[in-house]
Amino acid sequence: MDAPQPFIHLSNVAKTYRAQGRAVTAVSDVTFDVAEGEFVCLVGPSGCGKSTLLKMLAGLLNRDGGTMRVGGPGFDPGRDIGIAFQQPLLLKWRRVIDNVLLPAEILGLPRRATRDRARELLELVGLSGQEDRFPHELSGGMQQRVAIARSLIHDPKLVLMDEPFGALDALTRERMNLELRRIWTASGKTIVLVTHGVQEAVFLGERVVVLTAGPARMADEFTVTLPEPRALDVRATSVFGDYARRIYGRLGMA
Ligand code: ADP
Repeated sequence: MDAPQPFIHLSNVAKTYRAQGRAVTAVSDVTFDVAEGEFVCLVGPSGCGKSTLLKMLAGLLNRDGGTMRVGGPGFDPGRDIGIAFQQPLLLKWRRVIDNVLLPAEILGLPRRATRDRARELLELVGLSGQEDRFPHELSGGMQQRVAIARSLIHDPKLVLMDEPFGALDALTRERMNLELRRIWTASGKTIVLVTHGVQEAVFLGERVVVLTAGPARMADEFTVTLPEPRALDVRATSVFGDYARRIYGRLGMA
């Protein structure tokens, strides 16, 4: 029998931006697979092409080299992908719950059921009781969490996250790391998350794909095995430190 197809498959993927007579190669040769239900972190220095890669996975940008498959049979990118970008991009005139509901409205999902689900998701990200507030009444960290709830409202099979905690202070970021692990464990979704934080990538990912400075090239990938459920103090263990050291080494920073 044939081996099962990976949920995501990238082989020698490349992307060059062309504008005003200039060409910038953002991604030159990236190859990796993601299994269904896996949590994979892409790590690399700023400007190395991580966001470009994620946008190609989201179907927001075309690649111009290599092959890429996202999702199995029947996968509908419009319906089955949830996206959380670095900026929460909330609509300021809509209340928290109505921001979370936006993708469901666009997809025309049943109102009552999705409203209940929005409340559940807000509880999952620690925002119970904040449903009727407006974005400007929330801290940056709370807004990020609204964006994460919104990325899950239509129950997507695949969640793509681009530095979702990039703008947060260190403590809030740590709390969000814990919450995201909890959400992933509870939901079983496939998550691909871009970060420039090596520690964050090791803490969050089942696997870490290391990209070198631009244009993005695959440097290495690491399967991360840590005691579960992961707690923040795992970062002080020698196993964790060893993963981080090896990744810094691949980034030329050891
Ligand atoms: P990262 O997410 O790793 O910080 P990006 O994917 O945002 O990197 O960018 C990779 C490279 O592509 C950078 O050199 C950036 O300046 C360039 N780039 C990104 N978007 C565009 C665009 N729309 N047009 C031209 N160049 C771009």
